[in-house]
Amino acid sequence: MAGDSRLVAFPCLAQRRLLCVGGYCKRFVYSPARAMEIFPMQKIVEGIRQFQKDVFTSKRKLFEGLAEGQNPLALFITCSDSRINPSLLTQTEPGELFILRNAGNIVPPYGAVAGGEAATIEYAVNVLQVKDIILCGHSHCGAMGGLLDPAQLENLPAVRSWLSHCESTDRIIDENYGHLTDPSARLTATVEENVLVQLEHLRTHPAVAAALARQALDLHGWVYKFETGQVFGYDPRTGQFSLIEGTSFAAPSATRDLLPT
Ligand SMILES: [Zn+2]
Repeated sequence: MAGDSRLVAFPCLAQRRLLCVGGYCKRFVYSPARAMEIFPMQKIVEGIRQFQKDVFTSKRKLFEGLAEGQNPLALFITCSDSRINPSLLTQTEPGELFILRNAGNIVPPYGAVAGGEAATIEYAVNVLQVKDIILCGHSHCGAMGGLLDPAQLENLPAVRSWLSHCESTDRIIDENYGHLTDPSARLTATVEENVLVQLEHLRTHPAVAAALARQALDLHGWVYKFETGQVFGYDPRTGQFSLIEGTSFAAPSATRDLLPT
């Protein structure tokens, strides 16, 4: 193990400092996994080194080209949850997704708050002229769990206030899903309904409303089940979320069928 270069920068657990030579201390119990727990920044900083050495070098032209500007494929709105990686999920490169993230993938109705969400959406639609907005919820969402169980939010006043933008979601579940007693099924329904509620909020943003009116924009409601890698897209024709699969499958639009034909 002493010859393994990956261990060189790992910290010595006993001395709580980085080893300077060899990276392997025979005097103390050595566990890279435990070291990462105590020094989480070590993995992150090491990641920068690897990125610069391997990824940037192999894609130098791509990164240099980004200095000219951006022309993203879509605006991708999702939760801040660390288990979601939009670029990994969609296999897109830097410059291809304009991303908006917050707890619960929430879009406050236009004018409700002077927040970054409205500015990000406006910039994406009016300046970057994205043709698609994907609003993606996910399995095991802590924000939606908090919505279902407000006791969890007792000491989280900011989260409780933020979730007021999910009041419709809460009411929809409360008044229409009484038959769902299984907590997991209830959470899944909440995640899905919240995607639809936030899509409605998205339509209140003038930039979005205007682009929809001239059929220059499509909205997509997705739910990502990270434990299986599956993505489900809302199809207004069926009123259901269905599995997005296959290379030629066009992701269902949450708006296309609502437009006049
Ligand atoms: Zn979440």
